[in-house]
Amino acid sequence: MIGFQGGRMSKIWKVVAFSVLLGLAQTASAAPVTVDALRLWSAPDHSRMVFDVSATPSHQVFLLDNPPRLVIDIHNAKLRKKLKQPSAKNPFFSRVRSAQRHKKDLRIVVDLKQPVNPKSFVLKPRKHYGHRLVVDLYQKSLKGSGQVKQAKKTVTKTVKNKARDIIVAIDAGHGGEDPGAHGPHGTQEKKVVLAIAKKLAKMIDRQPGMKAVLVRKGDYFINLRKRMAIARKEKADLFVSIHADAFKNRNVKGASVFTLSRRGASSEAARWLAKHENDSDLVGGVSLDEMDSTLASVLLDLSQTATKDASRKVAANVLKQLRPIGHLHKNSVQKAGFVVLKSPDIPSILVETAFISNPTEEQKLKNHRHQQKIARAIFKGIHAYFKQYAPADTLMAALYSEHPKHVISRGETLSGIAQQYGVSMSAIKSANSLNNDVIRVGQVLKIPTS
Ligand SMILES: [Zn+2]
Repeated sequence: MIGFQGGRMSKIWKVVAFSVLLGLAQTASAAPVTVDALRLWSAPDHSRMVFDVSATPSHQVFLLDNPPRLVIDIHNAKLRKKLKQPSAKNPFFSRVRSAQRHKKDLRIVVDLKQPVNPKSFVLKPRKHYGHRLVVDLYQKSLKGSGQVKQAKKTVTKTVKNKARDIIVAIDAGHGGEDPGAHGPHGTQEKKVVLAIAKKLAKMIDRQPGMKAVLVRKGDYFINLRKRMAIARKEKADLFVSIHADAFKNRNVKGASVFTLSRRGASSEAARWLAKHENDSDLVGGVSLDEMDSTLASVLLDLSQTATKDASRKVAANVLKQLRPIGHLHKNSVQKAGFVVLKSPDIPSILVETAFISNPTEEQKLKNHRHQQKIARAIFKGIHAYFKQYAPADTLMAALYSEHPKHVISRGETLSGIAQQYGVSMSAIKSANSLNNDVIRVGQVLKIPTS
C-alpha cells in the first residue's frame, strides 16, 4: 500500500522526498534544526533510518550513481552527535557520513550496497519521541512495500484438489520504533510478544494440517494495515494478534481475548487498550499519505457475519485455554475497535496475554517457560476451534470430521484404500460420487462407515 514515486523520476536525480516547508519559510535567522540520534531498523524488505530532530526539518532525499549513494539534505541543520553506523550485515547500506554544506545545511550521505527505492517522511512528537525524520530504503526488485499481490494465484489453482493446510497468521504487536507498552522494570512489549509469537508458530508448524506465518519476524515496525495485508497475501484462515499491554492502574492484571467491535468497547480497559494499540502507527512511524491511501481499503463492509462468528468462536476457545495458566482479566471475550482486527474476510482475534504494567505479570512475561505456557494455551484454543470448524478443503477437516476421511498419497489405489478401511470399493465410489477408479494425489475421500 505504500506508494512509490520512483517510476516517475528522472534517471539521474531521483528526488523522492518532498521538502517539508511548513508555511513559515525558514529564514537565515531561524535557529538550526539539530539532528541527534539515528536509529536503524531492518525488515525483510526494507531498512529504516530514524533521525531524532529538534523540529520539523525541511529536507530532500535523492539518489546518486557511481557509486550508488543516497543523499539526505536537511536545510538549516546541525549534527549534534556522531551518526550510528549500520552493522556489516545490513543488506542495504554500508556507511553513513555527514558534512556541513553552504555553511548552514547538513548533508548526510549513505553508501548503498544495492539499488533502493527511498521514501521519507516526518513524524510529529508522540509519546516518548520528539520530532523524527524517517527514511525508508526499500528493496528495488520488490515494487512498493513488497506486497506481491497477484503472483501466486495461478500456482494455487494447479494444486486445487490437495487437502491444504490451515494457515494461521501470527501477529506480534509493535516492533522497531514502536516498543509498545513497557513494564515497571522496563520490559518491552514488542520483545515478549515476539518471543511468544515464535513459540506459537513452532507449535502450529508441528501440527499436521496447520501452518504458521509470522507477520513480524524481527525487531522492525509494520503498520497496522500492512499486518492485515500480509495475512491476506498468505491466505490466512485466522489472524492472531499478540500483545501484553499496560493500564494506568498497575493492579490490573490477567489475560483477555478480543474481537473487533465497531460499536464501542466492552469496558474502560478495553477502550484504553484499543486506543493504545491504534496509536501504534503514530509511534512506529507511518507517513500521512500511507494512512490516507490505506484507509479506503479498510472501510469495506465489516459486517460479514461469518467472519465475526468465527472470530468469536476462536476467541472463546483461546480464552478457555488461557484460564488455567493464570488470572483472566475478563471472563468473557471482549470487544473493542482494534484497527488490526478489521480484516473483513479473515477471522481475527487479539490476545492480551497479560498486563506488562503489573509487576508480577511483567516478571512472568519475561520468563521463557511462562511464554511457552501462554503460547501453548493459544495454540490449544486455535487447534480446538479448527478441529471443529476446519474449512472443507483442509487436511484438518479430513483428519477430524465425524466420518473418517482419507487423503490420497502417491502410489495409493482405490482397491488398496478399500482394503485398508475394510469397506468395498463400490461403497467408497458411491460415497464420493466417483464414476471410475481414477484417484489423484491429495484428493480427500469420504470413507463410508458401514
Ligand atoms: Zn500492544
